[in-house]
Amino acid sequence: MQAKELLRGLPAVDEVLQADEIQAAMAKSGRSIIVNCIREAIGEIRKQILAGQPVGHDGLKAQVIARTLFIARQKEKYNLRPVLNATGIILHTNLGRAVLSAKAKEAINRVAGSYNNLELDLATGERGSRYSHVVDLLKVLTGCEDALVVNNNAAAVLLTLGTLAKGKEVIVSRGQLVEIGGSFRVPEVMAASGAQLVEVGTTNKTYLKDYASAITENTAVLLKVHTSNYRVIGFTHETSTAELVALGKERGIPVVEDLGSGFLVNLESYGITGEPNVQELVRQGVDVVTFSGDKLLGGPQAGIIVGRKEYVSLMKKNPLTRALRVDKLTMSALEATLREYLDSDRVLQDNPTLRMLTTPAEQLKKEAEKMKKLLQKELPGVEVAVEQGYSQAGGGSLPTTDIPTYLVTLHSEAISEDKVAEKLRQGEPAVLVRIAQGKIILDVRTILPGEEELLVEACSQAFKSVQEG
Ligand SMILES: *Cc1c(COP(=O)(O)O)cnc(C)c1O
Repeated sequence: MQAKELLRGLPAVDEVLQADEIQAAMAKSGRSIIVNCIREAIGEIRKQILAGQPVGHDGLKAQVIARTLFIARQKEKYNLRPVLNATGIILHTNLGRAVLSAKAKEAINRVAGSYNNLELDLATGERGSRYSHVVDLLKVLTGCEDALVVNNNAAAVLLTLGTLAKGKEVIVSRGQLVEIGGSFRVPEVMAASGAQLVEVGTTNKTYLKDYASAITENTAVLLKVHTSNYRVIGFTHETSTAELVALGKERGIPVVEDLGSGFLVNLESYGITGEPNVQELVRQGVDVVTFSGDKLLGGPQAGIIVGRKEYVSLMKKNPLTRALRVDKLTMSALEATLREYLDSDRVLQDNPTLRMLTTPAEQLKKEAEKMKKLLQKELPGVEVAVEQGYSQAGGGSLPTTDIPTYLVTLHSEAISEDKVAEKLRQGEPAVLVRIAQGKIILDVRTILPGEEELLVEACSQAFKSVQEG
């Protein structure tokens, strides 16, 4: 049949609107949205006809209706939506880093839909500070004199250096000029803050005397950056925080430490080492410590600055603070996250990041075995096994810590694992997995309570749909 004839057979929008299924979709999504979907559907089919692709001249209207409903379903999906993380990377920056605790979610819910006292002191009726909601908590938890919260840790470093060292010199070890994911580079942030970088030492060794001999009358800060996403190992020397603090005291220069992740708990008994505690640095006399809210702390995205009152006060007066400020939703989630740290035992269960970091491998083995059974039932032609493996903290934290875990692996000679992974990623809900040695690998450590069945269902659908081609 001629394209012309086919085009003439395309239904008008009004005609499609009369169909029962379209009426039902309209009741759900609204008329104007569905009308747009119909136009899109007709446009797509017209293009197909003009390109000479087969459309079948019968039932063009039915085709338009089906296409309209498909488009409407696609449009209903939110762009930003939940993903099941079966990668075993606990803080996955591409997957939104830390998962919030139940209390943090509740806190957001409570303030989101009503007015609140974000900047009002309810006791006096005077204007309050948005930071006041967490300052006391941070004092108790870290021992600091004062605190400030900004948009993220990059902003915290920018504000700290921009306040204390603008137009002046900041001394930092060459071995700590790091780049964090998303191209946060210490030298670049420093340049943006207006501070002048003075590199000392070598990549592998920096001694106290290197800092001491670089001090001039222009030196404003001695900076230490935690090499959070890599380690220099072998023939190395790093100047300790205690040494740097002593030098700073002697010469009257503040010491700033960009800690990156910011651990408030000690998990050495769980085999997690190499991440200094915020409270330990404060105790050692570091003048300003900055860290992230959504890394190992397990809270919302934020940059937390704790330190001496005189320095934090200066930062609060810096106009940059206004540009970097956090909103009420972040504040509420951060307050809830920090409150949970007051109970240092329960927080290991209640904070999802800490819970995932500390779940014993033996418990994960049981969960992996359970999942294996379910998957075997769903996918008779696929080899399903439980294997030992390793999870990672991720998010530029604990780079050398491999956390023993159990993996569920899926393999079939006849099925491409890349295609299955693609189906999983594009499914509803989307699922992210690891692939290695021709297998789909699911690390149960990062599967949240209640997600197990969804994951089994998603895997079974993805394998079946690849199998069917
Ligand atoms: C992650 C990290 C940053 C950046 O923190 P964000 O919260 O992602 O802005 C800065 N410094 C160090 C050492 C880090 O590990």
